[in-house]
Amino acid sequence: MPWKTIRKHNETDVLPPNLVDYEEAYGSFTWAAAREELQGLPGGAGLNIAHEAVDRHAAGPYADASAIRWISKSGELLTFTYSNLRTETNRFANVLRSIGIGAGDRVFSLAGRIPELYIAALGTLKNRSVFCPLFSAFGPEPIKQRMSIGSAKAIVTTERLYRRKIEALRGELPELEHVLLVGENGEATEIPGTHDLHALLRQASEDFEIPPTDAEDMALLHFTSGTTGKPKGAVHVHAAVIAHHITGKLALDLRPGDIFWCTADPGWVTGTSYGIISPLTNAVTLVVDEEEFDLERWYRTLEEQKVTVWYTAPTAIRMMMRTGTEAARKYDTSTLRFLASVGEPLNPEGVVWGKEAFGLPFHDNWWQTETGGIMIANFRAMDIRPGSMGRPLPGIEAAIVERKEDGSVEPVASADTEGELALRPGWPSMFRSYLDEEERYRKCFADGWYLTGDLARQDDDGYLWFVGRADDVIKSAGHLVGPFEVESALMEHQAVAEAGVIGIPDETAGELVKAFVALKPGHKPSDALQKELLGYARKRLGPAVAPRQISFRTNLPKTRSGKIMRRLIKARELGLPEGDISTLESDEK
Ligand code: ATP
Ligand code: MG
Repeated sequence: MPWKTIRKHNETDVLPPNLVDYEEAYGSFTWAAAREELQGLPGGAGLNIAHEAVDRHAAGPYADASAIRWISKSGELLTFTYSNLRTETNRFANVLRSIGIGAGDRVFSLAGRIPELYIAALGTLKNRSVFCPLFSAFGPEPIKQRMSIGSAKAIVTTERLYRRKIEALRGELPELEHVLLVGENGEATEIPGTHDLHALLRQASEDFEIPPTDAEDMALLHFTSGTTGKPKGAVHVHAAVIAHHITGKLALDLRPGDIFWCTADPGWVTGTSYGIISPLTNAVTLVVDEEEFDLERWYRTLEEQKVTVWYTAPTAIRMMMRTGTEAARKYDTSTLRFLASVGEPLNPEGVVWGKEAFGLPFHDNWWQTETGGIMIANFRAMDIRPGSMGRPLPGIEAAIVERKEDGSVEPVASADTEGELALRPGWPSMFRSYLDEEERYRKCFADGWYLTGDLARQDDDGYLWFVGRADDVIKSAGHLVGPFEVESALMEHQAVAEAGVIGIPDETAGELVKAFVALKPGHKPSDALQKELLGYARKRLGPAVAPRQISFRTNLPKTRSGKIMRRLIKARELGLPEGDISTLESDEK
């Protein structure tokens, strides 16, 4: 690995990290103590996510602090204090109650990042109904599929999205009883068979007492990104808030007074766990931008909103890297004190680029829809090893295991051995099932481990290194090649913006490593560049691992949550069926 450990910038001017000493924190942590950091419903009536995120603060010292600072597409600001948020979410819970939506009923959302989405999410949880966010760019088919699997009883959406995507599906969704519409520009809407959400909210009382909630009551239904196949509906319960809270505190170093921007859409688990719940339980100010990625706008937002903690994803970081550090340096981002990334492997190049552009490295962390919260992280108090996902959160036991032929599973014998990343079940935000897919759920467990489907290795000091998804790993001439390693090596070349690596069948080697590369502005595909990249990779990786073929693309196919879909690159390359592409974003062949 050509990268050395990164020493952090001088942080003497800010408060010490929430996690000061990793070993000590890991050794002394208990989930029972983490639960004690939350309040619980009054009178011992259980644990409810929305109480911890909103009502607890609305009745305490943060009542008048900004909870959500929303930036509309046109740049207007709208701020909700914790107290405002309590009122609005109470109204929403009362609306649900008034139309007969109760505990356990599924309330879906299909909307851009509008304030109503955040109010609906938290109001739904107050009512003990189950919140299920969908990404607003989904087409009718993926919407129908997810709403059927999830038995949607109500949906919150906009007039425009309803007309374009849902109206025609109504006949095929017999369980869908209520459609709550947000009119265009907040205006009244009168479509037969729907409710005008704002009209109902105006009539609703602003008082609502959260009913007793069992920590094991179902709270959230999240569909996975569909990177490797058909998306699965992961079920989460109210107890998850314990993990949302403590991981935000320890891994993202959140504290009251922070201005936190999570760029993920709540249609994905990151946008809910860390784009709604965790920042609010930690009493920070959450920045929400309604607009999609736009380089200049993002830098301006960091400056104007005085963002202190920023949580984003490798795809966005790679897009920023395409245009170099000068663009970022034009803005005053000096309020930033912590940068983090999730969703895909973060190439070492990206970690270091953060330091060049913002004076701070990106801290990679790893988790999944199924784990509900961050499981592995580069903590503020630890030196970063660029390319490593970091170390397990306190309370999380992780191991690299090997699956034996008889189906049993055993931790690998020595450090630096590749195997499947496994976690010991038992943390509060662990998914409780895949909805209606008992068999698929059961297959994730063996010998007391939850098997993540990702391959990794752990070094002598306990840092975990991502190798690839089990489905993406390439078997070439007796070697196991992880696409991430090859992609990261290519990314170090100054012409490369992005790379996706797959295995293609080969008679002698079994599989050959093939790379698909998108170039940075100012570079053009050519035979000479192809040769240069092949040589460059070979020098870095050796002939067994280096790609044998390189093909240029303008863009690589990605999920809407920004992950490279290697299975799709492969299917297209081999002329195989494309499989489930409901979450596909860019569609350049
Ligand atoms: P599906 O399970 O439907 O194929 P998905 O796994 O992409 O989709 P998510 O739950 O959104 O759905 O993503 C979790 C996965 O993303 C992880 O299992 C891992 O493969 C990848 N991932 C997330 N964070 C990181 C990271 N920091 N480094 C490497 N990979 C990561
Ligand atoms: Mg997955």
